[in-house]
Amino acid sequence: MKRTLKDKVIIITGASSGIGEAMARVYASAGACVVLGARSVQKLQLLAGEIRSHGGRAAYCGVDVTQPEECRELIETAVREFGRIDVLICNAGISMRALFDDVDLEVLHRLMDVNFWGTVNCCKYALPYLQDTKGSIVGISSVAGLHGLPGRTGYSASKYAMTGFLETLRIENLHKGLHVMVACPGFTASNVRFSALTADGSQQGETPRDESKMMTGEQVARIVARGILRRKRLCLMEIEGRATHFVKKFAPGFLDRMFYLVMAREPDSPLK
Ligand code: NDP
Repeated sequence: MKRTLKDKVIIITGASSGIGEAMARVYASAGACVVLGARSVQKLQLLAGEIRSHGGRAAYCGVDVTQPEECRELIETAVREFGRIDVLICNAGISMRALFDDVDLEVLHRLMDVNFWGTVNCCKYALPYLQDTKGSIVGISSVAGLHGLPGRTGYSASKYAMTGFLETLRIENLHKGLHVMVACPGFTASNVRFSALTADGSQQGETPRDESKMMTGEQVARIVARGILRRKRLCLMEIEGRATHFVKKFAPGFLDRMFYLVMAREPDSPLK
């Protein structure tokens, strides 16, 4: 039988922008019931309205994923509206750009709070429902969660932490039918570089890269959907992700030099 997302209840955090917003549109148009979470409630309301106007099913809940009680409310919204949860996608995230030499420690704490603790908080309350449905937890990590990305200590650390947490959750649930997948997009056009935190915690406000040459959120959404349906453990995407995963095994020192070179070439790179 061909597996599809039709009628699956899918919670997506960070659905007000970028990859999360694209996942909401793509999965709703595939027949899923999507439950949208983020802090920008107005954007979620508009997106849910747009999905419903096309015949799709959507609910939303304002949530700051750093707040456990708000995550609980997001999960309860899904159960109240659609009666079950099949997939939790922990996608909400922020980035940074500064050398560790210069960065305020508060920035690294903020990265961990949103990217790592946001994932933990949502998983905590969704887990019993996902165990019931033998559903899926998806963590949207990054190529920076496969190998350290210079200028992004807090970002890489938060994504590695997320992987360690999710991997352990998978093993604890080995005999309960839970599927856990870590997805690692490479550079994808979105708001993430504009909102990235600089050394003093202020937002960067611009992107140092050509966003038009990146993957689109919609492409990422489709690859993640295939990963969910095939119940993969690790979802790699474009060449950057596959090459990083492969080369790290055999030539990690070479990969260090490549990562340094690529990031040092960015305009205004903190590595210069
Ligand atoms: P965007 O900045 O476009 O979207 C980030 C989303 O996260 C927004 O919806 C934002 O909503 C939400 N968010 C941020 N902070 C919080 C919070 N405290 N509570 C709830 N929601 C929050 O970035 P992307 O779409 O690119 O990022 C999505 C994920 O993909 C992130 O985890 C990112 O690390 C990952 N990723 C992105 C890559 C890229 O190049 N774009 C590459 C690899 C991974 P709001 O502000 O309304 O709360």
